[in-house]
Order: sequence, then structure tokens, then C-alpha cells
Amino acid sequence: MNKGLIFDIRRFTVHDGPGIRTTVFFKGCPLRCQWCHNPESQVLDTEETIKTIILDNRTFRKKEIAGRWMTPNEVIQEIEKDRPFYDESHGGVTFSGGEPLMQPDFLSDLLDRIKAKGIHTVLDTSGYTSRANFLSVIDKPDLFHYDIKLINNTDHQNYTGVSNRRILENLLLLCENGKNVILRFPVIPGITDTRKNIDGVRELVIKVKDHIHEIDLLPWHGLANSKYKRFNKPNKLGKTRDLKKEDLAWISEEFGECGVKVKLGG
Ligand code: SF4
Repeated sequence: MNKGLIFDIRRFTVHDGPGIRTTVFFKGCPLRCQWCHNPESQVLDTEETIKTIILDNRTFRKKEIAGRWMTPNEVIQEIEKDRPFYDESHGGVTFSGGEPLMQPDFLSDLLDRIKAKGIHTVLDTSGYTSRANFLSVIDKPDLFHYDIKLINNTDHQNYTGVSNRRILENLLLLCENGKNVILRFPVIPGITDTRKNIDGVRELVIKVKDHIHEIDLLPWHGLANSKYKRFNKPNKLGKTRDLKKEDLAWISEEFGECGVKVKLGG
């Protein structure tokens, strides 16, 4: 049976698409963004970690396994628990990660089954996958959340570990095929919010603005710092200060001037 590696299923999420949703987090990602909020999502394998809990001055340590191989039916059972909330709030299911397109057959199968139940779906993706993989699912989600990080390819490689060529090509495929797209732009101090990068993203936005609904600005915060420690992964941005809404105002204005709706947060 086709199984997928999932590291979390969160119910009642409200920032991952319209309405009340269930977000299914796929494990495995080909990128290594320095600002990743889910470092436990990156490796396409289960990982063991020790969770520390301090209670009444006593320390408890608990072994935790990140990632669980699940069948489509097991995932759907979880999703169906909140069906009445999706119907009432015009919500649905979001596939996120990690990168869901790293497990294309499992994702495709889930999208088909959920669509058959009439539930709205969002695919939250970095867009980093082959053209063939991308085309195999392009008609399935109702909405794409598509990340744009860095326009300069050398910078993209330095900060995410991969080239942005496929990402930009796959975005054009979405536009050419008339898909519903929301761009998501992580605002990372000194990395993605440089004058050079904002100019580059502006140029891209002008090019695709007739094909996208909006661009969401996702401000950097250090909430994942403890996860980096727990999973023993290098945390290059550990000392970077959290951004406030005011820090994003100028970027919002610049993108807004391109004629696209801008939203702060997801
Ligand atoms: S694409 Fe997303 S999940 Fe993958 S490394 Fe970057 S931020 Fe993390």
C-alpha cells in the first residue's frame, strides 16, 4: 500500500488557507532554508529526539519520534473529524511540510480522494520539483500557496541550498494554466528584505500579477529556536530579532504599488 511520511497533522488551523482547516505536514524537503521554522520536517526519514519538560523544578525527558508512515486512509480519517467545520467556514485541508511534492504519488492520491469528498484543498509548496512532477498534480489542488524567497540565483543557492530555476519555471506553469495562486514571501532580516531582492520580487510580481490573488508577507520570528536545539541542527539565525508588523510596512507598500493585494501574515 502507498504510504506517506507525515510529521504532524494540525486541526483547526486558520492561517493556512481560507476558513477552518486541517493542515497535513509532509516530512522531507529538498531545501535547507536558513530560516526554516520546521527543521524537523527536512529529512525524508523518521528522526529520534529527546523532549525536555520542566515541571515543579523537576526535569522530565521523553523520547520522541518525528515522522510517521501513514496510509491515505489513516490521513483521511483524521481529516474527516472536522468535516462540519470545513463546511461551515468554507475551509478544508492544506498540505504543507516539508515539501509535499517530495512524495508526489502519495500527495496525488490524497488530493484525488479528498477532492472526491468535495473538500477544498490547498497545496503549500516551495515549487522545487521537476516539471513532470509538478504537472502530475497541477490540476488537483483548489489553491496553491507558492513560496518566493530570493530572486538572485546565487543568493538562493547560498541561503536555501538549491537553485531557484525550477521554482520560477513552475510558477510560470501555474500562471499559464490559470491556477489559483497566492504568493508567500518570508521576510528574513538582511536576507530576503534587501533592496536588491525586493526589487527583484517586485519585477516578478509585475510579471505575474494578473495570475495571482495576493502576496502574503511572512515575518521572521525565532519560535523554532528550541526545535533546532532539540533536533541538533545548526541554527544560523538563532540571534536574529523577531520582526514586527511595522518592519514590513515598506515592503507591503512596494508590492502594493505593483497592483497586487498584500497581506501581512499567512
Ligand atoms: S522550503 Fe520550507 S520546509 Fe523546506 S527548508 Fe525551506 S522553509 Fe523549511
